[in-house]
Amino acid sequence: MTPPKFSDWDLDRNISDAIGKLGWEEPTKIQHEAVPVGRKGIDVVGQARTGSGKTAAFGIPILEACEVKKTTQGLVLCPTRELAVQVAEELGTLQGNKGLSIETVYGGTDLEKQAKLLEEGVDLIVGTPGRVIDMSKRGHIDLASIAIFCLDEADRMLDMGFFPDILWIVERMVGRKQTLLFSATFPQEVLDAAEEFTSNAVHVMSEDLEVEVPEIDQFAIKIGRLNKMWALGRVVASMSESDQMLIFTNTKRMVDMLSERLDRQGVDSAALHGDMPQNKRERILDSFRKGSKKILVATDVAARGLDVDGITHVVNYDLPDETESYVHRIGRTGRMGRSGEAWSFVGSNEIGALDKISNTWGMKIPIVEAPELPEGKKEMARLKEDWDELSDNFGMVTIRLPIGNEEASKMSLANWIVGEARVPEVAIGEIEIGNDASMVEIHVKKASYVIDVLKSRKFNGKSLKPEIIN
Ligand code: ADP
Ligand code: MG
Repeated sequence: MTPPKFSDWDLDRNISDAIGKLGWEEPTKIQHEAVPVGRKGIDVVGQARTGSGKTAAFGIPILEACEVKKTTQGLVLCPTRELAVQVAEELGTLQGNKGLSIETVYGGTDLEKQAKLLEEGVDLIVGTPGRVIDMSKRGHIDLASIAIFCLDEADRMLDMGFFPDILWIVERMVGRKQTLLFSATFPQEVLDAAEEFTSNAVHVMSEDLEVEVPEIDQFAIKIGRLNKMWALGRVVASMSESDQMLIFTNTKRMVDMLSERLDRQGVDSAALHGDMPQNKRERILDSFRKGSKKILVATDVAARGLDVDGITHVVNYDLPDETESYVHRIGRTGRMGRSGEAWSFVGSNEIGALDKISNTWGMKIPIVEAPELPEGKKEMARLKEDWDELSDNFGMVTIRLPIGNEEASKMSLANWIVGEARVPEVAIGEIEIGNDASMVEIHVKKASYVIDVLKSRKFNGKSLKPEIIN
């Protein structure tokens, strides 16, 4: 087989001249496979190790697609300022005399100056997500006009917590026609991002990438909202010194609240969600990665792509709304072949969702008791009577009274309770009387009160010890 040549492609004259000047003799493997596809306007998802020429692999199709018109048509996002500069320089060289104006947009530089340059009109922007967002908010970048978009070093971008920012940008590129996504490695999160940002993409993968199936022990604890903090305390207490925990909740507000509650309990934690500025997110991720923070509370979006080897415990404080998110979440632990634990706290209204998750993915998620409290450790919260958890679909809680059918009828028992506790009749539901005990349904709103009253009353001279039936 003869080696592929740049001249086979009939490239834009300026570009082929520039390549000639650079002295490049032939395309690298990733260029050979990705450039022809990219030039056709097809989405490309490309993987090749560092130093394999990915910049030109996406750069050539982008430079060909853009015209000199001082309207932003292309955007390349990079994880750092240094990389943005490097990519912009290489694109500048590769375009030769085509005359496109290529501008870098990254943080830490004079905003005014950058704004002025952008106002003059640019064809292609190479930037970091934070500043690109900033500039679009200020009206200096029109994301809607961008037709070709490239995410370079996608793995690092996601690892650095850029996912929410990238999502923000992508959502606003309403005129986007083509997406190129390049990465040196392809962990599951990058594949997911590729899935999300591209359509009918051609995948160009250079090496066979092994997918690690992590060793994760999964458990669920049946517990209502009221007692989730207690259960969390038990799982936290079971961790060893070197363990790290990632806790998921479904809302940003809950992330903040839970992290604050943990702090109040003297459990040091950090909160992470998409509303935080990028530099703050990076700082938090950094302290978690270094292990100086042991517990991180996050939303799905913020934790996307988070790759911290030290995570031993994942807690689903809330079950995710989508079954797929469960798999992403638990995949944060058990990295590098280490073992991990995933705990899900499910209230009675979440049991159905848990079944759906285990059925969809063919996983066993046994419902277990919360871990025992180790010697010398204290509870993080008191275990409370959770009436909502104890009640059925009609809001009724069942209690057991030691009154048999010799002593009362349904009617007399109901009347007696209504009279003693002074509750409306509708608060009493079904009553079943057996030989030596009765089951009485009481509405959840009144249950605690009725139980208290009955504890202090005697029925036919007999004291009642109302027991709640779960
Ligand atoms: P990656 O992004 O995959 O890490 P780069 O695009 O930065 O790699 O390329 C690495 C180096 O290889 C750069 O110095 C680039 O100029 C050079 N290079 C790229 N393509 C070729 C080629 N076809 N022939 C020779 N050198 C190349
Ligand atoms: Mg590169």
